[in-house]
Amino acid sequence: MTIGVLALQGDFREHRAMLERLGVDSAEVRTPEDLGHVDAIVIPGGESTTIGRLATMYGLIEPLRQRISDGMPAFGTCAGMIFLASNTVGPDQPQLGVLDATVERNAFGRQVDSFEADLDVTGLDDPVHAVFIRAPWIHKVGGDVQVLASVTDDEGHEHPVFVRQGRILASSFHPELTDDTRLHQMLIELTQEA
Ligand code: GLN
Repeated sequence: MTIGVLALQGDFREHRAMLERLGVDSAEVRTPEDLGHVDAIVIPGGESTTIGRLATMYGLIEPLRQRISDGMPAFGTCAGMIFLASNTVGPDQPQLGVLDATVERNAFGRQVDSFEADLDVTGLDDPVHAVFIRAPWIHKVGGDVQVLASVTDDEGHEHPVFVRQGRILASSFHPELTDDTRLHQMLIELTQEA
């Protein structure tokens, strides 16, 4: 089993380090050919418009869309979540549209560059220490999307920040920047099942 990490921009090295800690082989994916050699894909945090633009240039949009639609497990963190989703609140940008969700970029407000919070996650016994960096949240999800964790804003409204749709996982926050391997472990289990 080899987990691919989309390595166009962003913190793909941290994801690879996490997978290495879990004893799993990983490989950087930059071309459609690279994609052909992996069993799952991680899409890192970074800048979603840059990732989208580079993925378009490298001819990766259609092959990624196809593989993920055919059931290849995927995990997107932050910008990776945005890239997996179908829409954003705001101007169009290249997205895969495999995750039935509308995301709001930089949703926590411009002044809140980053913050950390302990989040309860469905299916995990202990909270996840979540690191948010200029993070999106999910504005609207489709019927097939399971919400696994949410945050509550100042007005008491809940916004999903960790979701699953079939074999797709997406988080607003960055588990790859912590010591918590449980979310990557979920991807590995989905890949073993696939
Ligand atoms: N703000 C970035 C975007 O909109 C995401 C930030 C991140 O991945 N940490 O693409």
